Amino acid sequence: MRSKLSKTILALLCASSFLLTIYAQSDEKPEATRAIEFPDIPGYVTLKCDLHMHTVLSDGSVWASVRVREALMDGLDAISITDHLEYQPKKEDIPHPDRMRGYELALESAEGTGLLVIPGTEITRSMPTGHFNAIFVKDANKLNQKDVLEVFREAKKQGALVFWNHPHWTAQKPNAVAALTDMHLKLLSEGLFAGIEIYNSSTYSDEALEIAREHQLAILGNSDVHGPIDWGYDVSKGEHRPVTLVFATEKSVDAMKKAMEEQKTAVWFKNTLVGDAQFLSPLVEQSLEISRTGEGPVPRVLIHNHSDADYILENLSDYRLHNQAKVFIIKAHQETSIQVKTVETLESFELRFRVLNAFSSPDTHPEIKLVVK
Ligand code: ZN
Repeated sequence: MRSKLSKTILALLCASSFLLTIYAQSDEKPEATRAIEFPDIPGYVTLKCDLHMHTVLSDGSVWASVRVREALMDGLDAISITDHLEYQPKKEDIPHPDRMRGYELALESAEGTGLLVIPGTEITRSMPTGHFNAIFVKDANKLNQKDVLEVFREAKKQGALVFWNHPHWTAQKPNAVAALTDMHLKLLSEGLFAGIEIYNSSTYSDEALEIAREHQLAILGNSDVHGPIDWGYDVSKGEHRPVTLVFATEKSVDAMKKAMEEQKTAVWFKNTLVGDAQFLSPLVEQSLEISRTGEGPVPRVLIHNHSDADYILENLSDYRLHNQAKVFIIKAHQETSIQVKTVETLESFELRFRVLNAFSSPDTHPEIKLVVK
């Protein structure tokens, strides 16, 4: 009896020390959480948004509350349920005449969570118009009319922000090259849309980015998710949905809308950031915490990356590195040590890098400066 008891105690002790070891290990190397993480930048909060998604109220396969739950798991700040205005394949089973219903359901479900829910709808037309999302709408029902120009004019009247969805979608553009039609030029001439998706679901378009730059449009990257979000992105393999980063003066619907109207957005997908250098450079700089751990002519500098991006850096500094070549990776949520050949002992020095997995245009990368003291 006694030996049985001591065996049990021994087994418990072994199990608990094993658990403690696991705990200690996980404590040493914190695992990245599922939440998408990027820092704020000076003067702005960085809002992580997915502004294109569907529910059973059009051709999606989940209820609006599921979209809210998924967004909270992914650490998003804002979502917009953008069910198709004109396409309701489930209406025999789920009648839903009110085009604001998805928004209302999501808003109710997000109450008290801090998630911003933006009223939206998808204008679903064949080419030469294509699909557009109208977000920040006041009443999507009033957009449900025949004449497409009148739909856009009504959206403008409501103060909505309208953006072109997947302009490179092969179902509407077989060669996948986004290009403005006469219809789009007409819409632009009347100021009827102000944004464009450069990334949708799993596809990217350099041409869409060029159109955005040429016509001062906000760039967006959205999931356009129809099924459960985890069917599209395998989180266990480090995948994540694309998000639109909005640089707003505060986390509120009004500040977010104003920032988008001023094109203060960037896009995050597949370990890639796309956006203007005025936002991406500070975003990368704020992600990296540097500390010097050595003196002498080859000081060691620790760089802690607090963001979800594995930054691919090209060294542009006046100094070469002792333990890295010109291009190296600063892994997400980890500390990377670099040894800088300052040659002389310096009190402080500046490091400059080009961020190769960030793009300001199809061929340019933002640069960052880090001061080591
Ligand atoms: Zn859609």
